[in-house]
Amino acid sequence: MASGIEHVVVIGAGQAGAQAAYSLRQSGFEGALTLLGDEAYPPYQRPPLSKGYLKGELEADRLFLKPGSYYSDNRIDLVTSAAPVRLDLAARRVEFQAGPALGWDRLVIATGARPRMLTLPGAGLDGVLALRTLADVDQLRPYLTTGARLIVIGGGYIGLEAAAAACRLGVSVTLLEAAPQLLGRVTGPEIADFFLRTHRAAGVNVRLNAVIEGFEGTGRVSTVRLAGGERLDCDVVLVGIGVIPNLELAQQAGLACGAGLIVDRAGRTSHPDVFAAGDLVQRPLVHYGRVGRLESVHNAIEGGKIVAASILGLPPPTEEAPWFWSDQFDVKLQTAGLWTGADQRVVRGDLESGRFAVFYLKEGRILAVDAVNAGPEFLVGKRLAALSARLAPSELADVNLSMKEIGARALG
Ligand code: FAD
Ligand code: NAP
Repeated sequence: MASGIEHVVVIGAGQAGAQAAYSLRQSGFEGALTLLGDEAYPPYQRPPLSKGYLKGELEADRLFLKPGSYYSDNRIDLVTSAAPVRLDLAARRVEFQAGPALGWDRLVIATGARPRMLTLPGAGLDGVLALRTLADVDQLRPYLTTGARLIVIGGGYIGLEAAAAACRLGVSVTLLEAAPQLLGRVTGPEIADFFLRTHRAAGVNVRLNAVIEGFEGTGRVSTVRLAGGERLDCDVVLVGIGVIPNLELAQQAGLACGAGLIVDRAGRTSHPDVFAAGDLVQRPLVHYGRVGRLESVHNAIEGGKIVAASILGLPPPTEEAPWFWSDQFDVKLQTAGLWTGADQRVVRGDLESGRFAVFYLKEGRILAVDAVNAGPEFLVGKRLAALSARLAPSELADVNLSMKEIGARALG
């Protein structure tokens, strides 16, 4: 056991917080371990919430990261529906609205992020919903019956995945995106256009450059009003316009924050015994020589592992290039690396075929790859992105060269 550490408290029982707790135990930490979550459930995975679980293909118990007995078997004191209201770093205490404070030797903050909501007139009406938690799906799903009218606001991952799931359930879906392209925050025009075509072909009414003025209804939303006076009737609205990191506890405690709670490579905040991981942190992106805030399962799991290793004084895990995925209709998009700053895009394969990849390069070096139904391009591309490999665009685009051969040339 790491000497002198009697009690680790983790705030936030999501993907990152749970991983930190699991990794602490797996790495031999024997002291007391408390995992505090403000939701009513044990830690669960969110990706199926906008995919299989939304479609009703998956039972809730398949979402849980560990069986219920895991926590008692591993002496993890999991406390659900528990939300600390204040951190006293000097006294090393987590304080609650009611009840005794909790002391700690090391603290992990993994409070994630919450959906950004619109502040337009009528946004508070019933039926204007977000999608982040199991409870959110339970609110949304009853509306998604055959013939119901869903308006999705936001053409990011949440909006597109939910639109695809709802469409499969026979719901009539209109998707309103403010920008001139879909997925503007996460990808380039080729992938965005591909998903635009895919959704429109499946019957989703996708509208770009949409400006929403407000919502109307008597108690419950029935109309979305657009700039210019157009009114769209609906039974339910799903807002998927990004997230806000849950920074309040960290800010109140005086921990240094930027776009997120600032941590170093070891997951350590500006307090030496307070660590953080997941959607809420701004961390060094070692493959890109800058800092940033990422929102993905891989980032949460890697961050949780890094924090556990740091607390125990163990060597950190090797950091991978960031990676992401999205499932929409029969399409699997897998992304490795971060494309921001690319000065060249190289398409490998036929954009119309439903199986292709786009590589993003900067000064001849690979930054990232988006692979559409193209597993080898993703797997090899992930290693190429991690190494900022230099490759001739003509080689990358040459489908007569297998990705194995391309990888061997670049990676030696
Ligand atoms: P979270 O998982 O959000 O966990 C944070 C937890 O802390 C939450 O339970 C929150 O309620 C709790 N909390 C907040 N404040 C407090 C407090 N004061 N006290 C106690 N608890 C608190 N990523 C992918 O890579 N691939 C995908 O396909 C994918 N699909 C997704 C689908 C959906 C619908 C959503 C919502 C997200 C998806 N993501 C996906 C993103 C991924 O799930 C998140 O990046 C990841 O969950 C972040 O982990 P986290 O632990 O930082 O935050
Ligand atoms: P997101 O990726 O930030 O996308 C939000 C989209 O909504 C953007 O395209 C944005 O356009 C648009 N938008 C913003 N304001 C709007 C407005 N007023 N009207 C219409 N459109 C508007 O966030 P998200 O899709 O909501 O996802 C939320 C979180 O869940 C993220 O952390 C995401 O990573 C995660 N998630 C991930 C996956 C996955 O990895 N497969 C799946 C689901 C969810 P602008 O960019 O122009 O603002």
